[in-house]
Amino acid sequence: RVVSAAPASPNEEAIERALRPKGLAEYVGQAKAREQLEIFIGAAKKRSEAMDHVLLFGPPGLGKTTLSHIIANELGVNLRQTSGPVLEKPKDLAALLTNLERNDVLFIDEIHRLSPVVEEILYPALEDYQIDIMIGEGPAARSIKLDLQPFTLVGATTRAGMLTNPLRDRFGIVARLEFYTSEELARIVTRSSGLLDVPIDAEGAVEIARRSRGTPRIANRLLRRVRDYADVKGDGRITKPLADRALQMLDVDPQGFDVMDRKLLEAVIHRFDGGPVGLDNVAAAIGEERDTIEDVIEPYLIQQGFLQRTPRGRIATMAAYRHLGVTPPKRGSA
Ligand code: ADP
Repeated sequence: RVVSAAPASPNEEAIERALRPKGLAEYVGQAKAREQLEIFIGAAKKRSEAMDHVLLFGPPGLGKTTLSHIIANELGVNLRQTSGPVLEKPKDLAALLTNLERNDVLFIDEIHRLSPVVEEILYPALEDYQIDIMIGEGPAARSIKLDLQPFTLVGATTRAGMLTNPLRDRFGIVARLEFYTSEELARIVTRSSGLLDVPIDAEGAVEIARRSRGTPRIANRLLRRVRDYADVKGDGRITKPLADRALQMLDVDPQGFDVMDRKLLEAVIHRFDGGPVGLDNVAAAIGEERDTIEDVIEPYLIQQGFLQRTPRGRIATMAAYRHLGVTPPKRGSA
């Protein structure tokens, strides 16, 4: 995939880290989440207490990891970072929890992928800052209670609906991250250009922003690809016409859709008469996993009004037909 929203190589991750805003004031957009967090962070600091546990949800690349770092920075505490699939055994999580210092932040990415036995350990930890661990084996095994330092869990997930109810109930703060406007993304592109020392004019930044699927990670990634193009095919400066040529070459269309976006819309329209079509059929038709379709591809197409999710399946909208240059069928009054 040319512009997948998932982090890619270690090199890309290093660049992402470098571009990550450090404080709430630098964090662009997400006004609602930012406003909430500002208050809770301020209150926790004033009382020298651990902040309430936070659940961040939204598609990949919208700034969940970044926010978790910012929360720790603003609170002036350490951040420990892990992810659901990495914590295989209860003792993996127990080791992390017992090493936390007072009021630290523990970030668990993909928290919906915690195994049930690990999740079990988390409940008393979140509620009473305590864990039950098993000592010894066989008949001599016994469980002991360990006190933990007060801490803040920041959990991230692509879809809040994938969390079990008891886990979701233990978060005092739940923030949904939204796709960014082109204006916000243009600010991010401009800021990143400054950090990477890339000459870009305002219209060049807007062009990249407009075509980044509402996602900062994609905006930063496209910026770097367009810079490569500018270095080789131009004089290094990013302008609107240059950005347009580069993005065309990268198969990012004028709407900002990439190859997979178009493949999905084409499949729904050409193979399933515009829908409604079930997720499994779409997945088989385009050779992509269900989860990727639901977490990465669909949310933006739906937000932009090109796809509808109905109880009977996915439906391509008139905008999708128009975008692909296909004449829509005459539908009944329904
Ligand atoms: P997620 O954890 O949701 O997948 P990240 O927090 O890793 O997303 O964000 C991906 C990249 O996008 C980060 O490296 C960061 O540079 C950038 N980014 C995300 N949100 C913002 C923001 N609000 N302002 C500026 N840059 C952002």
